[in-house]
Amino acid sequence: MGNGTSRPHRAFRCGGRKTLSKAYSNVDHDDKSLPAKISLKMPLSMASDACATCCQFNLESTASSPVSTTTPPSYSSEDPYEYLALQSEVLDTIDAEIDRLSGELREISLFIWDNPELAFEEHKSHDRLVAFMVAHGFRVTPHYRGLATAWRAEFGVAGAGTTTGGGRVIGLQSEMDALPKMGHACGHNLIAVSGIAVALGLKAAMVAHGIAGRIVLLGTPAEEHGGGKIQLLERGGYDDMDVCLMTHPGPGEHNSTIVSPWTAIQNVDVEYQGRSAHAAYAPWEAQNALDAAFMAYSGISVLRQQMKPSHRVHGIVSGNKDYETNVIPDFASMKWGIRAPTWSELEILRDRVVKCLEAAATATSCEAKITIGVGYKDCKENGTLADEYTRVAHNRYGWKAAVTNDVLQASTDAGNISYVIPTIEPVFAIPTEQNGSNHTPQFATSAKSPAAHAAALTASKCLAATAARVLVDDDFFHKIRASFEAQLAVS
Ligand SMILES: [Zn+2]
Ligand SMILES: [Zn+2]
Repeated sequence: MGNGTSRPHRAFRCGGRKTLSKAYSNVDHDDKSLPAKISLKMPLSMASDACATCCQFNLESTASSPVSTTTPPSYSSEDPYEYLALQSEVLDTIDAEIDRLSGELREISLFIWDNPELAFEEHKSHDRLVAFMVAHGFRVTPHYRGLATAWRAEFGVAGAGTTTGGGRVIGLQSEMDALPKMGHACGHNLIAVSGIAVALGLKAAMVAHGIAGRIVLLGTPAEEHGGGKIQLLERGGYDDMDVCLMTHPGPGEHNSTIVSPWTAIQNVDVEYQGRSAHAAYAPWEAQNALDAAFMAYSGISVLRQQMKPSHRVHGIVSGNKDYETNVIPDFASMKWGIRAPTWSELEILRDRVVKCLEAAATATSCEAKITIGVGYKDCKENGTLADEYTRVAHNRYGWKAAVTNDVLQASTDAGNISYVIPTIEPVFAIPTEQNGSNHTPQFATSAKSPAAHAAALTASKCLAATAARVLVDDDFFHKIRASFEAQLAVS
């Protein structure tokens, strides 16, 4: 749940709407051993258990993922019940694999928790996760797309897909960064492990049941501060994904999960430059920068009466440690976070906040240097994906699961992804202390608990089940696309 700060001087540009054909552009079509069209209706009992060519343990900077040449069945829309018949066996496989790996996943979670690393400094986490994914048969690209702590892990099963013979591409995300002085107070150790768990559970199901498709798991740095996903998006890191899935821990009722839209956020920093003078002997010679900061604070406080209840502006005076009462300050700086339910609303609110900052400079005869930070767009939860995730959570695991339009008052850089790829980022509940929500030291303690680990794995199973359906059910995927297009049309 980031605050979207930093990266001043660089305006965000949306990557644009991705076309379906583009989505398949990175699928490996070079394997001439694959039949152009593969027979349908292969009984599950005949599905190969082979993974003969997929377990190549490589660290490579480029190239396609390992591909299993297992001949897969296809589940056409002609028989919508075929998916449901398949589901139980697929989900059993996912469950068994994630349960089997629970101990290893717990070790990784605790390693990340014990080594909290801030935005773009997640080196230990990067190395540990890269090694783990290599060891589990994924082709891994460390330091992905020029980001030192980003990584990509890929696995594919070739065969009868929908239109290209390559199957669809499931995008997944593992966050790794911690918060200053609080460690993993947002539980990103659980998110890291969840991304891995989904990938491994889905891989096992694809291999066991001959499901064609590709998994692309990204290790995404700097969610709390800087927007690593946005940098990866701008550099093409998401170009080949058909959907993008991840989870996030939060407080809430035991065994519950919710899918809600996340607010947009943009940070704005301001530096006021004035002129010092003796505060008693010659105050008329000064331009008081601290006055500018307080006038800005007052102006924005007044602005709040004109803001919608769902909008937020929150700020601090920052970095001024050398003030003396007998010296009129010649410098003051502030940091502001601006949130609104949608990006278009945020832009309107941001412009009004900036006017308050400028007005304070005018009133005090100071200069204002205003820096517009990285914009985290609102996260649009894809309704079709959300319905499936919550259906599985409730029906199979007995969780209280809901999809709501009530906007979550938190933000994520996955929001920008949701503007170009159908996305969900559900929040699953972990046991917390009273008033111990995200971004508190108490939540960091909660994120280390065995119960939190168990909840993360259950959420991962639900997400892997959702991903499996994306791969096998054409109608389902078409509905995902339709709801995605409808969401964009109203944004
Ligand atoms: Zn978070
Ligand atoms: Zn957070």
